[in-house]
Amino acid sequence: MKSKYIFVIGGVMSGVGKGIATSSLGLILKTKGYKVNLVKADPYLNVDAGTMNPTEHGEVFVMKEGLETDQDMGNYERFLHQDIHQVNYMTSGMVYKTVIDKERSLGYKGKCVEAIPHVRDEIINRYKEAAKENKSDITIVEIGGTIGDFQNAMFMEAAKTMKLKDPKDVIVVVVSYLPTPGAIGEMKSKPTQSAIRELNGYGLHPDFIIARSEVALDDKRKEKISISCNVPKENVISAPDIKSIYDVPINFNKDKIGEAVLKALSLKNKKPDAESSKLWGDWENFVKNVHLNKTKTFRVAMIGKYFDSGDFTLMDSYLSVMEALKFAAAKAKVGVEIEWVDSKTIEKDQNILKDVFKRCHGLIVPGGFGTTGVDGILKSIEYVRKNKIPYLGICYGMQLAVIEYATNVLGLKGVNTTEIDKDCKHKVIDIMESQKENLVKLAMGGSMRLGSYRCKLARGSIVHDLYKSDEVIERHRHRYEVNNDYVDQLESKGMIFSGKSIDGKLMEMIELKKDKHPFFVGTQSHPEFLSRPTTSHPLFDGLIKGMMGK
Ligand code: GLN
Repeated sequence: MKSKYIFVIGGVMSGVGKGIATSSLGLILKTKGYKVNLVKADPYLNVDAGTMNPTEHGEVFVMKEGLETDQDMGNYERFLHQDIHQVNYMTSGMVYKTVIDKERSLGYKGKCVEAIPHVRDEIINRYKEAAKENKSDITIVEIGGTIGDFQNAMFMEAAKTMKLKDPKDVIVVVVSYLPTPGAIGEMKSKPTQSAIRELNGYGLHPDFIIARSEVALDDKRKEKISISCNVPKENVISAPDIKSIYDVPINFNKDKIGEAVLKALSLKNKKPDAESSKLWGDWENFVKNVHLNKTKTFRVAMIGKYFDSGDFTLMDSYLSVMEALKFAAAKAKVGVEIEWVDSKTIEKDQNILKDVFKRCHGLIVPGGFGTTGVDGILKSIEYVRKNKIPYLGICYGMQLAVIEYATNVLGLKGVNTTEIDKDCKHKVIDIMESQKENLVKLAMGGSMRLGSYRCKLARGSIVHDLYKSDEVIERHRHRYEVNNDYVDQLESKGMIFSGKSIDGKLMEMIELKKDKHPFFVGTQSHPEFLSRPTTSHPLFDGLIKGMMGK
């Protein structure tokens, strides 16, 4: 079967949950027994998201094959409960680079190369390639930005051309916003009407309007939007603000969006197979656990570096980590809260740590790069290690835990990572051999050790108990590694290297024995990227159990 396409486009303004609407629609269609594929077309000129500062663009999500992408891809994988291929992510930069490289190698055979048709056709190729690679029945493409942006015009053109060729196989969904201005006290549909008119200028018309608003749309409002925007009333979907993003699929389902979309795509409302029905049942259970009245709530301190623009940015930078904690807490039926701690405040006054850990039951040091805030992080790790407070170190968080141990337990002077001090005396964390040339050439884009790698776990270790497996696969994003020259010394003083690469050369996980510390685990990988709502991640489960005293 040829794939059908749904283009999701934002109207009025950004940040109203287009990505969550796309992911939710994907989940619903998947649980109706169709093979669904989610694609993101980002208007940036960056070739991938890897070189962007998280405070600029939120978290960099790493895909299985190693592409560094937008946090939306994380939501797609979490909602669909499946790995997504990297062909499903594109940026304007990626598209233009392909076209320009092709032109430079005479690929257009002397033709004048133009946005239309060449850039547009490259986009269409990518949409189709993503559908083919995933053998999907339905491909949902989320176009970044909103209607009327100059930057996403080519992505719209591509959608228009595809709809013109196969009108029955392509539908358009607009996620719009209906404001209720305080002084008027009434929900206004005018901005949405204007957005649709602007969309019409591209030669596109919505088949569905998902109306984001503070409160649910009443019948009268649906009628008004239907008439003024020329969309059937049953295709106007109400999407009011809700407590948790994970409620969205449940809400959409009440409006029967799945059935209506299948009808619009001339697809049958078939009986879902066992796997799809189970996925929906598991989702409902998970959401129930999210809203359960929790008898116990744990507070986790998260010491981060990306504080430049306030807490809000920080949350965005570590989105997957936060979600992973929520999933593990939902599974354990406990509440979880995060306290953001700016490591610079600890550098100024270490006594702050006492107060922080009066309130907090555990610590996560997530991934990071560079020098800022590192001293404060090292102090925090020392504090939780000595005071037996559960600790999970992710990537930089593992590397810094090794540095702290080498300094304070081995008693070495001048310990560091060569990322911070190239000439330090004890290069306990050092650049990976394969990365040296990249640094010299300043080849920084997409060149880290990226994507999925296998890791062997030592039997009898904490991580082996948690994963219940001899071998695991996790996603990675790093240039530096534990220097093997120090492994024996560290082990002789009680640090256990419980996870190693398949060839045994790269230290992937560390831990301290249970009788020394209730939970002290670090991983070179990013377990947060593989944590899913209905199957929380073993390492996050471990941290929660550690805080529960189990
Ligand atoms: N900066 C460290 C490295 O490159 C850790 C990276 C990370 O935390 N993702 O190895």
